[in-house]
Order: sequence, then C-alpha cells, then structure tokens
Amino acid sequence: MAASPELFENVACPFCGMICDDLAVERTDKGLKVRKAGCGRAIAGFERKLPPSSPLVRGKNVTQAEAIAEAAKLIGEAALPLYGGLATDVEGMRAVMALAERSGGVIDHALSEAQYRNFKVLQSVGWTMSTLTETRNRADLLIIAGSDVAALHQRFFERIAAPAESMFGVTAPKRTIVVIGKGLDKAARAAGAGEVVTLPCKPERAGEVVGALRARLRGFTLKPTLDIDGVKLADIDALAERCKAAKYGVVVWAPPALDFPQAELTVDQLAGLVKDLAPTQRFAGLALGGAEGAVTAASVATWQSGYPMRVSYASGAPDFDPYRYAIARMLADGEGDLLVWIASYSPDLVPPVTKLPVIVLGTPGIKLPKSTQVFIPIGTPGVDHAGRLIRVDSVVSLPLKDLGRAELPPAAEMLTAIEAAL
Ligand code: SF4
Repeated sequence: MAASPELFENVACPFCGMICDDLAVERTDKGLKVRKAGCGRAIAGFERKLPPSSPLVRGKNVTQAEAIAEAAKLIGEAALPLYGGLATDVEGMRAVMALAERSGGVIDHALSEAQYRNFKVLQSVGWTMSTLTETRNRADLLIIAGSDVAALHQRFFERIAAPAESMFGVTAPKRTIVVIGKGLDKAARAAGAGEVVTLPCKPERAGEVVGALRARLRGFTLKPTLDIDGVKLADIDALAERCKAAKYGVVVWAPPALDFPQAELTVDQLAGLVKDLAPTQRFAGLALGGAEGAVTAASVATWQSGYPMRVSYASGAPDFDPYRYAIARMLADGEGDLLVWIASYSPDLVPPVTKLPVIVLGTPGIKLPKSTQVFIPIGTPGVDHAGRLIRVDSVVSLPLKDLGRAELPPAAEMLTAIEAAL
C-alpha cells in the first residue's frame, strides 16, 4: 500500500443499505482495520485483502486502455447490451445510464427482484414512509413483519430500534417491538430493545396476520377460532390495541427477506396497515434492504429515466417494463447479446450463468464467468475512492471517503472512458 498510515473518523460504511456513518477505520501498512463501530459485514468488507488483479481481455493481461477499447468495441457491436449488477455509487450509476442510453441497452440491478416487491406496491397504491432517523427518534411501537432484519443490517437494533438514546424523550425502555415471524426476535431481545412481543407464525404468513389486524382495526368480526399458524385472535386484538395506543408506530419490513411467491401482497398489507392508521395517528412504514448500491441505482435511474429500474433504451427513449426488462429473465430466455456486469462492493456478486459474452467491471477477487471477454478491476466506493450512496430510506445521499486501500479506478471513470471510445 502506497498511502501512509491514517485514522479515519466518521467513516460511512457502504456494505449495506443503512450506511452507518460512525465508523473509525485505520489504514496501516497491512491494510484497513475497523477500529470502532463496524459490524461483521463491515469488517469483512473494509478489511478484505484484495488479490492482485489486472485488466484482462479473454483471460490475457492487457493495459487498462486496451481493456477499455475492447469493451467499447463489444458494446458498439452489440444489438442489445444488458447492463446488470449495477453495484456502484451515484456517479457510477449516472455513467451506466449514459452508456446504456448511448448504446441502446437495458438496465437492471442484481437485487431488483426484491426491490420490485416494494415498487409494485409503491407504483400501484402508494405509501407513507418513515426514515431511519425518525424511527430512531420518535417510534414507540415497531412492528417488524416477516423479516430477519439483523441478518441484513447487523446494527439495526443497536442504532435504530434500541438506541442508547434518542431525541424527543422516546428512549429504548419505552419502546415496544412486535415481531411477526417465528425465530426473528433474537436480535431484538439481545439488544434489550424495551418490550419485545413475538407472534410466532411462519414469516411468509405475516401478511395474513396483518390482514386480520386491519380487519379488527376496522371493526370487522373474525372467527373466535382464528389461528394463523399459531397466531390467535387474542394476539391480533392485543396488537390492535397497541396500534391504537401508539404515538408513533412504524411497520418495518425488508423486501429481500420476503422471498416467497407473491410477496408483494404482503408488502401491500403492510403499506395498507399504515394507510388505515395514518389518517388518525402517526404511523408510517420503513422498508429495509438495499445492499450493493440497490437504492442508489434505483434512485439515479428514477431521476434520469422516470423509472426505478428495468428500463430499455433500445428504442432510443426509456421504455419501462418490469417483466420484459428483468435481466435474469432475459438471459434465461436467450434475449440480449452482451452482458455488462458491474460489481464494486462484494466479490460474491458474480454475474449469472450465461453463454453471452460478458464484460465485468468488478472488485478484484470476483469470480469471472467462462464467457468473460473483458475484465476491468474497479475500486469500491468509500474504500478505494470517494463517492456517494443513497441510504435505504432514500432521503439522504451520504458522502463516502477515499480510505486509500488500493489504487483502483471508480466505475464511473471506466464507464465514461468506454462511452467516449464508442
Ligand atoms: S449495519 Fe450495514 S452499514 Fe452499518 S456497519 Fe454493518 S454493514 Fe455497515
């Protein structure tokens, strides 16, 4: 490592959608070391040792300029390039959009299947949402539905659900957390998050539980023998009373965790519960997830094209279709003739299996598919170069520091160079 030792304070972590910005990370001659506030995922991300890497064309070491020229040639020849992965930052995503528009390609993020569980509801009926900060400071009732939040965001309970202190007098002991889903309450209990109540049904039945809750809140009669995988009418009624008594209730879910058929119907119930209660009291939703820059990619795509993802520029204008332009489906059905895969954060975000020629702009260590034509190593935003990421609640974009782990270019720089070479 060329750069001298340095301790960085208030570091924003890019390795999940929460983007905690209170880490301390030290750069030493052995690499980066998380000194304060990092969870296991953050430590793994910041402290990962990068293997040596070089730009490649069909497996042979080349210069960066040669790799850029070959990538531009392949994209220029492609009739329908598919831009997938999209694990990058704001600037990288802007460059993807420019290149996709110029080359008539399709854009889709690697994790957008989960995001579409939300988008389908947002686009069709709308919703009222809270933020991480509002939830941390104001919520006195959290209903966590069907989602293992701690598995996705290890510090959610420490920072948001059970903070040591919060503004406006809502401190952890006054907070009630209701967890709908068997086995999903361990982190809440371990965090000492005030009162924790569990409705231990299978996580995929959380939507039914909330549907029954909405019925009771509206005054409907339900069968006294109601039993939703162990959740009884008395449990539903007790939760209804908690909802009515709440000063600021928040319904929390993480779409990546709702990995079962028609999960958007569960999201619809959760958003519907908020909609039912919001006219008469403070109630809002909080959707989590958003790793690998997924929220950033969707936000940039929305403000530039009008659509959150799964957009084709093949006609010259943005054409949105969440089914037609799902890249996983397109690959499975033999559509497209080139895959351009961008993975800045995790080496595990590997391209899907495909016979198409592939261009990978990735963090060193990513496993390259056999049909890789070009590989260009790129840096991780917030580690190897500065950048910006949009937080999971979509309300702030956080600056990421250059910690100087390695001399690797930002995805934006490489994508812009490819576009210029077209
Ligand atoms: S919870 Fe997420 S953002 Fe926070 S330190 Fe862990 S990986 Fe980073």
